[in-house]
Amino acid sequence: MKLLFELSKDNRRLNLIPPCDVEQVQLDERHLRKEKLNLPQLSEVDLSRHYTELAKQAHGVNDGFYPLGSCTMKYNPRIDEEVAAHPNFLGLHPTQPIETVQGALEVLYQSKQLLCEITGMDDMSFQPAAGAHGEYAGLLLIRKYHQARNDEERVNIIVPDSAHGTNPASATMAGFKVINVPSNSEGGVDIEELKKVVGKDTAGLMLTNPNTLGLFDPNILEITEIIHEAGGLCYYDGANMNAIMGRVRPGDMGFDCIHLNLHKTFATPHGGGGPGSGPVGCKDFLKDFLPKPTVEKDSNGYHFETPKDSMGQVRSYYGNFDVVVKALTYIKSLGKEGIKEASGNAVLNANYMMNKLKKYYDVAYDQICMHEFVLTLEGLKHETGVSAMDIAKGLLDYGIHPPTMYFPLIVHEALMLEPTETESKETLDEACDVFIELHKMAHENPEHLHTAPHKCLIARPNEVDAARNPILRYVFKND
Ligand SMILES: *Cc1c(COP(=O)(O)O)cnc(C)c1O
Repeated sequence: MKLLFELSKDNRRLNLIPPCDVEQVQLDERHLRKEKLNLPQLSEVDLSRHYTELAKQAHGVNDGFYPLGSCTMKYNPRIDEEVAAHPNFLGLHPTQPIETVQGALEVLYQSKQLLCEITGMDDMSFQPAAGAHGEYAGLLLIRKYHQARNDEERVNIIVPDSAHGTNPASATMAGFKVINVPSNSEGGVDIEELKKVVGKDTAGLMLTNPNTLGLFDPNILEITEIIHEAGGLCYYDGANMNAIMGRVRPGDMGFDCIHLNLHKTFATPHGGGGPGSGPVGCKDFLKDFLPKPTVEKDSNGYHFETPKDSMGQVRSYYGNFDVVVKALTYIKSLGKEGIKEASGNAVLNANYMMNKLKKYYDVAYDQICMHEFVLTLEGLKHETGVSAMDIAKGLLDYGIHPPTMYFPLIVHEALMLEPTETESKETLDEACDVFIELHKMAHENPEHLHTAPHKCLIARPNEVDAARNPILRYVFKND
């Protein structure tokens, strides 16, 4: 496919902008561009076709099944986009006088109240712009808490070996030392091992429940109590709330602070790099440390406040406000029962798929799963030479986005599937048929899978190069 610069023809352009009707200003010589700006020149129809062609090369939730584990790539209702795109929201400026943005503050305030109710927290800040960013802010809460009590020797954050990769990274960024705790044979935290690593140096624990194996840890109350007894705090990675919203609350599991991924669970499409929102929530005793500003309400209406011992700002202004509008619309349109039904169907869909596939593929932890489950293709690879990567590539030829691969690290040849609640039984059945077909192909024609995909523009890029040396800019011949 040609790039815009390759399609460009001199003096071919689209004159969409009317002539300027304000007086032109002559800039200082030093501000003037020295060379001509090398912009592609195209007609409107060619430009439009170019972007349509590009869009066809991508795979999104609106193109087909997208079971990317831990990412909750579900369909997001259009109504949420429509409300967020209302001109009265779009036209807001973050420095407008407070009395002119009371409606926007009400959105933040109501969202805070509803999300606190869903999570069992007491207060929340919408500043963090992503899940990992929320983790970082949450860990700073823990840090400030220990500092305020002159308990500075608490430098360790305990993280299970099944944790999402961002957890140890955020803990390190926040200045803590990461202590790994292994999983037991059921995929939960090994309690005996946990007891061995807690102590006076424990600042806290970071945990996802259900974890990235899609399993709910039944020992959760005992786990959080062990940490509290040692003087540490418990941080809940709430990126996977899709499995439990409306049913179980991190606050009731003994967690002191959390983040949510509004762009996974609460109706903001994601995967293209944002905008996201990772609000950080906490129990009352931590709220003085929250990022500033928070939204409060009194008899005069809504206003911003700086929490007493605030960690300061972790982002400009109030976070990604439009994402919060979508989340509020989503929660209100589903209602209390709808939220519960969504998580119920997410879990039902995952168990349905797992049970259909386990006749062919090995399930890493064969027990009732939550929103996702993990297959291990170690046996298949041993038998046929076909790896998890080959199966994932094979799926592309059937219009299915691959599951999360080679993660969590404790499962070999892992494929982690999260079907989400928005898929129908028919879609799940069709996807299972494709998986079964690929399993057959692995035995009959492994070579076809080693060289898959056969229908995509790009088949097997060098992943290290693609990640480390991406070419993001067009290189002109005379550059
Ligand atoms: C997605 C995810 C994160 C990170 O969220 P980002 O918005 O990508 O930074 C953290 N933890 C878990 C369990 C996740 O699934």
